[in-house]
Amino acid sequence: MATRFQPLLPGLWLYPDTCHVYVLKFGRDAVAVDFGSGRWMKDLPALGIDRVSDVFLTHHHADQCAGLEPRRTRPFTVHAPAGDEPYLDPKMLRSHRHAMRQLPYHAFPRNYRPLARGLDAISCDMHPYREWRGQDLCLRFVPTPGHGPQAISIVTEFNGRQLCFCGDAAHAGGTIWEPFNLEWDHWTGTGALEAWQGIERLRGIGLDRLLPSHGPAIASPPASLLRTLSARLMRLYRAKGSICAGEKDHFLRAEPRPNRARQYLPHLYQFDENSYLLISATGETLVVDPSRAHSRAMAGLIQELGVRPPQVILATHIHSDHCGAMMALRKETGARICLHPRVAAPLRQVDRQFYLYAPSTPVAADELWPQIGTWRWQEYAFTVAPWPGQTWWHCAFMTRIDGRKVLFGGDSFMPASRWNGTGGFCALNNSRFRTGHMASARLAIRWQPDILANGHGAVFRFTDSRFRRIIRWAQSAEKAMQDLCPTGSLAKDYYALTGFDGRP
Ligand SMILES: [Zn+2]
Ligand SMILES: [Zn+2]
Repeated sequence: MATRFQPLLPGLWLYPDTCHVYVLKFGRDAVAVDFGSGRWMKDLPALGIDRVSDVFLTHHHADQCAGLEPRRTRPFTVHAPAGDEPYLDPKMLRSHRHAMRQLPYHAFPRNYRPLARGLDAISCDMHPYREWRGQDLCLRFVPTPGHGPQAISIVTEFNGRQLCFCGDAAHAGGTIWEPFNLEWDHWTGTGALEAWQGIERLRGIGLDRLLPSHGPAIASPPASLLRTLSARLMRLYRAKGSICAGEKDHFLRAEPRPNRARQYLPHLYQFDENSYLLISATGETLVVDPSRAHSRAMAGLIQELGVRPPQVILATHIHSDHCGAMMALRKETGARICLHPRVAAPLRQVDRQFYLYAPSTPVAADELWPQIGTWRWQEYAFTVAPWPGQTWWHCAFMTRIDGRKVLFGGDSFMPASRWNGTGGFCALNNSRFRTGHMASARLAIRWQPDILANGHGAVFRFTDSRFRRIIRWAQSAEKAMQDLCPTGSLAKDYYALTGFDGRP
């Protein structure tokens, strides 16, 4: 009988399913590592196996275990990493989904490959550094986070060889299957650092074989593969650190106003978390990045200065803390929403497509800017352009205010002491290196603004040196991520979920 099972050692097979399923045979019985779709079970008679007693899941991703989902009694026990209950238990999954749907924005997912319904009746009893004994076998559990914070590698001795079933902690060539899984949030290196620790743990064990969930099984001692992978994970962790190491913050003085608003220039005010009020000579006003509907700070400024309510509302990027209040403010004041096409396009369809941190209800622009060009309001001429960095869906606009060139830059770049000098990069924001951070840094150097008026109250002086450092960082950060891609292609591996479209 033809079977897709591939023999690895006497009594040990690999079945290429949605993930690799490894089967270890004991007489007519067997134990399996990961489950995939479950198709492999039909081929067991070809191996002389009548019964599977236990299945061990290395982590909770759907490709490892979706075949277990249909509710039914199973003739075997399913073991999963301790702490994975919230990702596996059907009730907990349902309540998490419900909570996510209540949010007014698209939150960062806690799991990139979630199960549709969840698994009933499983034992989350694979505790780090504990062991399981049965079937003349001792399995030891080593924490190797990465594809999930609780992911486990299983170390055992079988047929005279020391084996490690490492799930997605490592992949052939010292890479990581779907490396975006190392991004546990939109900006820190936590996932990369935890993954590095896990690989360091495996490096301390004299392994003969490394048996990952995807890609080729490693038939020779994996010491050099793990050394390479460890160094790469540390490089990624460093890339997630400062993007302009050594740069000063270049503070800018401001006059405090009521409601924690601040005046930076005679005609420029900053208020709430992310917002700016620009005033024209005629007393008309324009708002950038409204983060709050019915803002007391904005109303206070308008009253104090004796100016008119906003006529125009602008946004630097699609994140809800920068544009989530636009529709409410438009309704409140009758102001027009003017957007850059790169920001407007996703905001039109946020109810139909996932865009990280975008509001969950659409924003409709009354006027679209040119991709690159000039847009005028009152006496101000704004130079506008895409400004990808923290997210691909980001723009910048610069105008002269009280004799100073002010660039409104949202979240793409920050002072060095703020979040490593960056709003972060992650695959879900479609953050790019060469065509993102680097291109935007070059544009800043060309535009030579005096002041960067960014999000989160970060108003600081422009320096060439910051952006030269960012250009160098983008080169090394791109390489750090690319080196971890199994195919060597960021488009195929890193942007697999967001659909890298290759646009410049
Ligand atoms: Zn996985
Ligand atoms: Zn943002």
